[in-house]
Amino acid sequence: MYGLKTDWADEPDSRYFTLDSYEGAVARWCPGCGDHAVLTAVQRLCRDEQLEPEKTVFVSGIGCSSRFPHYMKTYGFHGLHGRALPVACGIRARRPDLHIFVATGDGDCCAIGTGHWIHAIHYNMKMVVMVFDNSVYGLTKNQTSPTSALGRRTNTHPRGALLEPVNPVQTTLGIANVSFVAQTPDWSPPHLLATLKAAYRHPGLAFVRILQRCPHYPNPRLEVLQSDSSQMALLTHPDGIVLEESVAKLFKNHVEHDPADLDRARELAGSQDAVPIGLLYRNEAAQRYDLCAAEGMATSRADKIAALKSELSQYRV
Ligand code: SF4
Repeated sequence: MYGLKTDWADEPDSRYFTLDSYEGAVARWCPGCGDHAVLTAVQRLCRDEQLEPEKTVFVSGIGCSSRFPHYMKTYGFHGLHGRALPVACGIRARRPDLHIFVATGDGDCCAIGTGHWIHAIHYNMKMVVMVFDNSVYGLTKNQTSPTSALGRRTNTHPRGALLEPVNPVQTTLGIANVSFVAQTPDWSPPHLLATLKAAYRHPGLAFVRILQRCPHYPNPRLEVLQSDSSQMALLTHPDGIVLEESVAKLFKNHVEHDPADLDRARELAGSQDAVPIGLLYRNEAAQRYDLCAAEGMATSRADKIAALKSELSQYRV
């Protein structure tokens, strides 16, 4: 009928977000810092998934990477040291409609924030947790972090770190109700982007450890990995992080791994032979605390009062 719109699906979307839509303040990380690569990948993810900036929030703690929310033109919460995860869980508990990302570092997550890290994995609330692991406290000028290699010289251990490092991926895989664990290097933009996309699409807490270069306080191990890809094992599987052939062949060493196999994921995470790159574990059926806690949230005020009265009517005062 003339003048009457019958097919609204033909209407162009009135809002299309470009990379500019997500660009916040100019990033003040050191030149060459791996954080710049992650910022670019995240902005591309937001553009590709067309995330509404007003429905997207970045939460961080303290550290170089925790400046992330300032560099995104979305909502953000730059919080206290180690406290990004409880803030993100609180947001998720009340706002199921938001896209939530957490930017945390090896010091922030694996030292002062350890308790929150374990409980957030256990709660499995939907969010993407990016751990920028440069194995050092960079913001406070070179102290040993929980992931610093044994023998690494820092300001706090000038003769070398005394303990074996914590392995964030292996630890996360040991936590009950874990549902998504991946590892990616900041110097492979296609792998980084593909991993973050898989994490964003996961219906639960997606834990992504990013091997992040800090040129100011370089980690010799990452320099070796970057120059010799045979020291990494690219995890391949149709259910994993699928790369174009031209990108996959940049990794010399391929290992077939089904991300549903938790025992094998733990084995690979602890391997001393080659650093696993890709999706170690995914379980979309893991219970989500945000869904359990949301039960009854839509109950009307009248129904709540009626239920309360019925409950109280069982008691005499
Ligand atoms: Fe990046 Fe290291 Fe500089 Fe921090 S100190 S901004 S981690 S290069």
